[in-house]
Amino acid sequence: MKKVKIDDIGANNFNQIIQTRGFVKSISAKKISMKIAVYRCIMCGIIIKKEMEWGDPFGKIQSPKSCIPTSSGGCGGSGKEIELSRHECEYEDFRTIVISDNQGYSLKLIQTGESQSLEIGQEIIVETEIKCNFKKNNWIGELYGICKKISVDVNEHVIGTRNSPKRHNPHHIAMIIQTLQKENGEYASMEGIIQKARKMKISEAEVDDCIRRLKEGGSIFSPRFNEYAWI
Ligand SMILES: [Zn+2]
Repeated sequence: MKKVKIDDIGANNFNQIIQTRGFVKSISAKKISMKIAVYRCIMCGIIIKKEMEWGDPFGKIQSPKSCIPTSSGGCGGSGKEIELSRHECEYEDFRTIVISDNQGYSLKLIQTGESQSLEIGQEIIVETEIKCNFKKNNWIGELYGICKKISVDVNEHVIGTRNSPKRHNPHHIAMIIQTLQKENGEYASMEGIIQKARKMKISEAEVDDCIRRLKEGGSIFSPRFNEYAWI
């Protein structure tokens, strides 16, 4: 499967299944989408079922153009007499998950069916089919992904070791530093970082480790002792 960075996903990937990775930015509450549309002919009462394009809540359902022929039990009437019977339709749950990379590029993902527990800030690897929400009579649309598989243990995925301890990604700390800078002005204090990190169940030792890695990576600098700023 092709691995594509979020900011590289484009027209070439439309209708393709790709693998990408990012940090969970937001998770929506459950929404529902029609899975099977049930139409009824007013003239003869026959039911016509149409299935939603597999796995895509934003897919399309082709409404029947006419009733089924008399030889098959219908009345063969025009489509004008066919109505959507909402209470007879079948629905399914889905939710939207927005992931973003370190630079802030984001991608909307649609997950139907079983929803695993995810945390904000958690890094995930996702196998996803890239779709586009073209508007009616429009040639422009936003790309999004239909989730096929989400892997949460990114380290395992990359290194292939099963027993490595869970390591918090420096991205969490980077987000905390950015938030503190927005809240308090110029710099983020170590005290403030630790306080916010504790709420995310990140220990002081992990904070130290992440800050060291961020400094090494050139993402942050320390203007004063125990104060940090995003570059
Ligand atoms: Zn009919």
